[in-house]
Amino acid sequence: MVLKWDKIETLINCGCVLSLDVATDQMSVHYCPLHAAAPLTLAACKTALYYIDLTGDGVSSAEQNAKVALRAAIAAAEPVSEAKEVK
Ligand SMILES: [Zn+2]
Repeated sequence: MVLKWDKIETLINCGCVLSLDVATDQMSVHYCPLHAAAPLTLAACKTALYYIDLTGDGVSSAEQNAKVALRAAIAAAEPVSEAKEVK
């Protein structure tokens, strides 16, 4: 008996699945709902920050709290650039 594998899949804890097509040696990712939404969430945070900066009064505590939360979410989601790395 010969087993033939055409695909190897690995389930990540979050629900994402890494898949390797053995015939073509191509790797693909099937994103879980959280990671599928992540790029849209990052874009939404940037858009919200832009409009708060554009239309806000710059002094209210609600506005300041929203900006801090949005900046923290954006910083956490963006890849670390060399400029941000501590050497
Ligand atoms: Zn995931």
